[in-house]
Amino acid sequence: MAENVRSSAGDLILSDSANPSFKDNPSFKEMMNDVVDYGSCCECGTCVLVCPHNVIEYIDSKPKQVAKKNGEFDFCGISEGIGCDVCAQVCPRLGPREFSMHDTVFGEEEGDVYNGGFGPYQEIFVARAKDPRILENCQDGGVVTAMLVYGMEKGLFDGACVSSPDPEAPCSPIPSCETTPEGVMAAAGSWYTYVANDLALQQAVDKECEKVAFVGVPCQITPTRKGQYKDEGFLDNGKKKPKHIERQAKSLKDPMDRIALRIGLLCSEVFDFDGLMIKKIQNEMGIPLDQIKKFNVKGEVLIYKKDGEVVTIPLKEAQEYARPECHHCGDFSAELSDVSCGGVGAMDWTITIARTDAGRRFMHSMIDDGLLEVQPIENFETSLKVLLRLARRQHQRVPVPERGIEAVRPPWYMPPPDA
Ligand SMILES: Cc1cc2nc3c(=O)[nH]c(=O)nc-3n(C[C@H](O)[C@H](O)[C@H](O)COP(=O)(O)OP(=O)(O)OC[C@H]3O[C@@H](n4cnc5c(N)ncnc54)[C@H](O)[C@@H]3O)c2cc1C
Ligand code: SF4
Ligand code: SF4
Repeated sequence: MAENVRSSAGDLILSDSANPSFKDNPSFKEMMNDVVDYGSCCECGTCVLVCPHNVIEYIDSKPKQVAKKNGEFDFCGISEGIGCDVCAQVCPRLGPREFSMHDTVFGEEEGDVYNGGFGPYQEIFVARAKDPRILENCQDGGVVTAMLVYGMEKGLFDGACVSSPDPEAPCSPIPSCETTPEGVMAAAGSWYTYVANDLALQQAVDKECEKVAFVGVPCQITPTRKGQYKDEGFLDNGKKKPKHIERQAKSLKDPMDRIALRIGLLCSEVFDFDGLMIKKIQNEMGIPLDQIKKFNVKGEVLIYKKDGEVVTIPLKEAQEYARPECHHCGDFSAELSDVSCGGVGAMDWTITIARTDAGRRFMHSMIDDGLLEVQPIENFETSLKVLLRLARRQHQRVPVPERGIEAVRPPWYMPPPDA
């Protein structure tokens, strides 16, 4: 199997330690001004997930200060009092950004880690699930759902954070921690609007799941890594009682410590629900949302209706409804995940990138147990080219901020002179 999956796409990984340093412990005030007010907040909700003092809530898809309702939007009494700023440590738009974390996440892997232009990786191949129940509902090759089902059946996961359909609201899935293979199979398929899967980690805590598979787009994977690797030492500022430090550390670490495997989804942008679903598809095109089975994006937006009809929207037209927040994201391929999956340039197959030892071993185990059909990436030359192009384009597109702290748009995101 090894020769089947090894790609010649890259060189051995280079250290990124030459990157300029980022501000070590960004504050709540900076997050609210330089991320939320500035317009780069991706709506992941992770700041709300980890807030130890219930100061912020996820309202209209953004963190909102609720503890002192009439106070300034950027005032947190705990941050400015005894000190906290746990929220800002996980924000994917603040430093360290993805590129600064390559050494941290991949520095001690046993396998050879390559730098393929789409982030560090050990193996890249193309795969498809064999289970017909998965193939019926999945997005591309069903690899993601097959991994979740396999992990649950083997006892490796007791929960999976995914986007599950909301029976009350068609085409508007919700973050959920599923605990059965049936639950994850019902959540198969991709929704191209934003679902804050990081918030499902709270359900994992509530359900007492201890080994969770986390599925998310790049800006959802990054905060989980930031929480995992953040040194708790910054919490001890000499102004707090041990019980405060303990509470803040637990709130930061507990959800992240439960993650057994991070499965990243390739992503360049998502669409605004009111714009694409309501204005365009429901009102202009006259398609009731409860008649839609699934969507795909392959050069155009494909709408699969429950009656079998497939309706398309040219990509340029759909992109009128792309969320501007996404254009602050420099990570196309979820570079900090254990395994990244995408459908780029391939129909009914999943382009699969095993990045860490954990990801590589998991995929080998599935393949050895006969659960996946596998092809070498060389059979999908166009997919590899598009993957490289999109990853590069995304690295370079993060706007230079007109104001705010440097880490929101670090200089090493600048296009090289020959771009
Ligand atoms: C918002 C979004 C944008 C994407 N953009 C690209 C792209 O530009 N290029 C590309 O190659 N691939 C993209 N993908 C990935 C692609 O659509 C497939 O998810 C991937 O190929 C895996 O296919 P699969 O059949 O193996 O997954 P499946 O087995 O169908 O599993 C998909 C998993 O994704 C979860 N999910 C569904 N919607 C969301 C959501 N909105 N947010 C977080 N999790 C979700 C599901 O709950 C499920 O667990 C995108 C996915 C999403 C969700
Ligand atoms: S600084 Fe602490 S208490 Fe204040 S919003 Fe952030 S996480 Fe919550
Ligand atoms: S952590 Fe996520 S939701 Fe919170 S400010 Fe940052 S990007 Fe926005």
